[in-house]
Amino acid sequence: MTNKKSSLIVGAGIAGLLAATHLKENGFEVTVVDKGRGVGGRMASRRLNPGRADHGAQFFTVRSPIFQDYVNKWLDQKIVVEWTRGFGSGDGHPRYRGAPAMTAVAKHLAQSLTVHKATRLTKISWADNHWVAQTTEGQPFSAAALLLTAPIPQSLTLLSAGGVYLPEQAMRALKRIKYDPCFAVMARLTQPSTIPAPGAVQVRSEPIAWIADNQQKGISDKPTVTIHAGPHFTRQHLDEDRSKVGRLLLEEAAAQNWLDLSAVDTVQVHRWLYAQPAVLHPERTLFVNSPGPLAFAGDAFLESRVEGAALSGLAAAEKLLQVNDSF
Ligand SMILES: Cc1cc2nc3c(=O)[nH]c(=O)nc-3n(C[C@H](O)[C@H](O)[C@H](O)COP(=O)(O)OP(=O)(O)OC[C@H]3O[C@@H](n4cnc5c(N)ncnc54)[C@H](O)[C@@H]3O)c2cc1C
Repeated sequence: MTNKKSSLIVGAGIAGLLAATHLKENGFEVTVVDKGRGVGGRMASRRLNPGRADHGAQFFTVRSPIFQDYVNKWLDQKIVVEWTRGFGSGDGHPRYRGAPAMTAVAKHLAQSLTVHKATRLTKISWADNHWVAQTTEGQPFSAAALLLTAPIPQSLTLLSAGGVYLPEQAMRALKRIKYDPCFAVMARLTQPSTIPAPGAVQVRSEPIAWIADNQQKGISDKPTVTIHAGPHFTRQHLDEDRSKVGRLLLEEAAAQNWLDLSAVDTVQVHRWLYAQPAVLHPERTLFVNSPGPLAFAGDAFLESRVEGAALSGLAAAEKLLQVNDSF
């Protein structure tokens, strides 16, 4: 028999982990699965040994009192620190980063949860009144309620592989959601970069949309930079050799006088296929009760970025709690 108060959460990013925390605090048995080797999803950092670089979200801001309450606790626990109040002239609004790096918040939340890392789901089906998820190793997970926080195309692939058909209106709404891709280049340098204080330039252009100095930011003991390409450049070079993409972006950074090419030591390039939503769903979560209780959440729901994902995860968890009596 499946526990009526059990839930399976796909994704150990900020949306999935905050949802899991909220459901657990309210008496749910919660299992979180993520294909990544670590937790955090797009709040990601990588070791360049030596050196470190955040290669997904670079910082986050807070606008809502609900998220501010969480962030205040993380500030007290030193899991989060204020990086700066703006880039260039600055607008006085705090930009926070994880401490020691962006994955810190997820690692902290995961400590009190059951999280199966390096567990890639291949299909999710509905059978005998509960959800059943299969992994690449064939290990099944089952639960009464399901919360999907992966980027929507990935969530829909899982359901379709398991033969789950969603109500037409929900399907249409989910298919409207679109994402932009982004190449992230992480490079270790043999000498400090010339990126101005506080260690980043928010270019918002092409081919470089963002460049950061992780040493100035305070997350790396060696000079390392993170470059994010704009969506146009990324689409243009999507399937090209990663080392070529890295070279093009580093050459552009050198041309802008942010670093010296001869100081580039180690380079890693990551392709985020679903980096940031370009078309959002107009509500914080989408819930369907057919074939079973299922909520979708993440940064594509109402508000993008880390705060939007966090609030969406909480809204989805709240919805599952509300409908639990009718399971
Ligand atoms: C390059 C880049 C720069 C960004 N910069 C910023 C920024 O500066 N500030 C900001 O606020 N936001 C930024 N963002 C956006 C921010 O990172 C996201 O909005 C937020 O982290 C999304 O959280 P989430 O929980 O919705 O999704 P995710 O963090 O993507 O979590 C979803 C999880 O689902 C897992 N998953 C997917 N498929 C499967 C499967 N089949 N089986 C198991 N697990 C699966 C994934 O591994 C992932 O961990 C940036 C994002 C990127 C990529």
